[in-house]
Amino acid sequence: MAKQNKVSYNKIFSKLREHHKWFGNAIPLIASENVPSPAVREAIISDFGNRYAEGWPGERVYAGCTYIDDVEVECTKLARKLYRAKFADVRPISGVVANLVIYSAFTNPGDVMLAPSIPAGGHISHGKKEHFGTAGLVHGLEIEFYPFDAQEMTIDVDKSKQKIIELEKAGRLPKMAMFGGSLFLFPHPVKELADFLKGYKMHVNYDAAHVAGLIAGGRFQDPLREGADTITMSTHKTLFGPQGGLVLASKEHEEEIKKSTFPGMTSSHHIHHMAAKAVAFAEALEFGKDYASQVIKNAKILAEALSGVGFKVLGESRGFTESHQIAVNVLEYSDGGIVEAELEKANIIVNRQLIPGDIKAGRNYFHPGGIRLGVSEITRLGMKKSEMKEIAEYIKQVVIDKKDPKKISSKVKSFRKSFQKVRYCFDNKLGAYEYVKLR
Ligand SMILES: *Cc1c(COP(=O)(O)O)cnc(C)c1O
Repeated sequence: MAKQNKVSYNKIFSKLREHHKWFGNAIPLIASENVPSPAVREAIISDFGNRYAEGWPGERVYAGCTYIDDVEVECTKLARKLYRAKFADVRPISGVVANLVIYSAFTNPGDVMLAPSIPAGGHISHGKKEHFGTAGLVHGLEIEFYPFDAQEMTIDVDKSKQKIIELEKAGRLPKMAMFGGSLFLFPHPVKELADFLKGYKMHVNYDAAHVAGLIAGGRFQDPLREGADTITMSTHKTLFGPQGGLVLASKEHEEEIKKSTFPGMTSSHHIHHMAAKAVAFAEALEFGKDYASQVIKNAKILAEALSGVGFKVLGESRGFTESHQIAVNVLEYSDGGIVEAELEKANIIVNRQLIPGDIKAGRNYFHPGGIRLGVSEITRLGMKKSEMKEIAEYIKQVVIDKKDPKKISSKVKSFRKSFQKVRYCFDNKLGAYEYVKLR
């Protein structure tokens, strides 16, 4: 038995090493992922990860928080500066938890929330109970969907107003309006709808999980200035952080949010990740503008290149994308599930994606009509225009030309050789996917 335990123990480390090596040889295009700097990784392995610091700095429930408090005060200050927000709660441990903090602070079970549907880009944490969506399942919210304009790939403003008028008549007036999503090509109409929504006393939240780094860089939209009451986000998609969450608000909402986060939604708030968030916010303040500009440039170039080699890229009438994402309808070749698997064999990592029209056509999440690509990670690795064109060519060879993906994977491997460091950070001695052995 003892021998078997050591075999398992060793196996875990060999799998971790293989994973690191694979990602160093791949083109990582998952839109919700990024690669953190060595500094963020250093904070994550610190002893902060073994401590508790329940409560707010200076009002902790535990002893031993002297340095933790100093870091958390700094972290909060940096988050507020980065987003020009009066209040930041850096404790939510993920984007989903950040949303739960907001649901609990501003709604009651049984209330209605207006949100984008999943094929229209919404996230499962905004979803209905019958789909096991967090809002319905965990907080008992009823969900109504915004009318969506599939041509423009965004929320339809006039139809949304109409829908709210009808919902009020039916006694189902939403208590909260959620903006933001997971398939998120163009800014949402916060400015156009916020006054209208507030006229009905709705709380307006903007879920910036995907676009947090673009907002920080001043390159997407500015939800707090456009009328959102609160912002929730993940800290690791276009932002530079470790996996984590963040809530931002104007001062008047401070008390509800603080209590909802602790004791409501967290006990340990993963203090090592809090420290790493502070590092990431400092990096975003320093390098975020350049990074966000390059991300958006790269996304546009990759979208144009994909369209150029024959793919049906969504959002064409608006120039394909204003974010880090690109959505491609692949039904001409097979479906999103099959394309995802073929590309993975070529070391090109993308994810399948429900796109407008899929549910009506009877397609499901396993075999949807699209794939979604994100350029946040490859941009952080220093890739630019010519690399985007090369990547579009590899994708074409696998999906359209149906070339052997194994052959493409060796081309991908040599293509990746000169992109092994994290850019847009203060220190990059350690390689982006270099494995750190501590034993
Ligand atoms: C990814 C995502 C989340 C969930 O974030 P986690 O940090 O993974 O919990 C929430 N909302 C949206 C819109 C997302 O895309």
